[in-house]
Amino acid sequence: MKKPAPKKAFRLTPQREAILRFLEGNTSHPSAEDIYARLRRKFPGMSFATVYNTLQSLLGRGDLIEVRIDRGRARFDPGLKPHHHLLCVRCGAITDLPERAPVRPAGLPRGYRLLSSNIEFYGICPACGKKEGRREELSCAKKRKK
Ligand code: ZN
Ligand code: MN
Repeated sequence: MKKPAPKKAFRLTPQREAILRFLEGNTSHPSAEDIYARLRRKFPGMSFATVYNTLQSLLGRGDLIEVRIDRGRARFDPGLKPHHHLLCVRCGAITDLPERAPVRPAGLPRGYRLLSSNIEFYGICPACGKKEGRREELSCAKKRKK
C-alpha cells in the first residue's frame, strides 16, 4: 500500500513563527503590507516576499482565509469558523459578524448543494461616523460666521 503523501513540510523559521504568532487570534484582518510593516520592526531583515510566501502556504494548507471585501487589497483572517464581514468604507476596518445559522438565500435553484457563504456588509463605523458629524458641525459653524 502506498503511504499517503506527507503534508508539505512547513519549515518554521523564526520569521515564519513571528508571522504565525502575529496572526493567531488576530481579528483585525491585516493585509500582507500591515503584517510586513508590523514585523519588520522586530525583524529588520525580513523581506516582504517572506510575508507573502508564508501567507500563501498558510492559505494552501487551509489555515488562513483570504478576505476579499476590501477592494484594494487582500486581507487575511485566521478565524476559520463560518462568519460574515462588515467593512467600514471610511477607515477600512473589518468587523466579524457571527453566522447564527447557515444562510439559505431566496431563489436558490432546486437541487443546488450550498457549501458555504460569506456575506459582505458595508457601512460607516461609529468612530468614523462621529468624525464626520464633527466635520459637518465645523463647516456649518464657518458658514454661520460669514
Ligand atoms: Zn471607520
Ligand atoms: Mn473575519
